[in-house]
Amino acid sequence: MPGLEDLYREIILDHYRSPRNRGELPPPAVRTEGHNPLCGDEIQVYLSVDSGLVSDVKISGQGCSISQSSASMMSAAVKGKPIAEVRSIVRRFKSMMTLEEEETAEADDQNVKLGDLEALQGVVKFPVRIKCATLAWNTLLQGLDEATA
Ligand code: ZN
Repeated sequence: MPGLEDLYREIILDHYRSPRNRGELPPPAVRTEGHNPLCGDEIQVYLSVDSGLVSDVKISGQGCSISQSSASMMSAAVKGKPIAEVRSIVRRFKSMMTLEEEETAEADDQNVKLGDLEALQGVVKFPVRIKCATLAWNTLLQGLDEATA
């Protein structure tokens, strides 16, 4: 019987080998980029917002398996969702990725299902990799702020 850690490793490798929503979007889609110099990870997030929804999202960039699979999972988790729900998912994910108790999570966030994203929770045991896992999410937040400014 494979353990939970093996299952999580499989999910991460699957997203690394077959990244979802890979590519670019033309303007007026918002483009933001993030770097994690500690590991050499680079992520570009292309974001289209329409009628209060994240109508499309594309990811490009390169880096380690954690950074790229996290970006792929993020794109699948937020595409087609209302902006408020996307912000909720981001808060839940970032609170999963911190060792301290976060006071920033709001009550509604508890209802958000992270699904495959839970595969990344083991990363929190390796603090140097947390920045790899959260890079795409911080880049997405920048894009959301720009798109909704
Ligand atoms: Zn990395």
